[in-house]
Amino acid sequence: ESLASLVASRLRDIPDFPERGVVFKDFTPLLADHDALAAVVEDVVARFRGDVDVVVGIEARGFMIGAATAYALGVGFVPVRKAGKLPAATESANYALEYGHATIEIHSDAFTSGTRVLVMDDVLATGGTAAATCDLVERLGGVVAGVDVVVEIAALGGREALGARPLHALLQV
Ligand code: IMP
Repeated sequence: ESLASLVASRLRDIPDFPERGVVFKDFTPLLADHDALAAVVEDVVARFRGDVDVVVGIEARGFMIGAATAYALGVGFVPVRKAGKLPAATESANYALEYGHATIEIHSDAFTSGTRVLVMDDVLATGGTAAATCDLVERLGGVVAGVDVVVEIAALGGREALGARPLHALLQV
């Protein structure tokens, strides 16, 4: 069984969440299945071992997959959070949503300049969140070694939003 088909079998579509007309890709069945979770983590490890110094995970599902992967890679984990959640001094980035804006933050002292960073999240949609996260990483002097997501919703153009940063998705829908 290929990894993509294993991942696909552990994702479910939830219609009308969080609002009417949206079909939400829910990866909690993948998280709940040790073999599937381990296969996903090991795939990332095989591609990045020795090439990254830290994993940055995006709130909230990027924390789950990102922290597990950081542990397996033998590196630390840094959270990017919604505005107002991180306790120490932060850098923040504002980006456009379909309706309105969102702000995300990273601790200003999260890592030193030159650190090689792997950015992780569950789903890449428009790419706005991941691109803003990369902007924060680069503002701290970090180098984005890659952006890894479980699912890329290809029709929404997230890959283009990331520009030249290397994107890898286990599954494209
Ligand atoms: P984007 O900024 O439009 O790419 O949206 C990506 C962000 O929204 C990520 O942090 C995802 O976790 C979340 N997101 C968007 N669509 C979905 C979905 O269908 N399932 C789970 N998370 C989603």
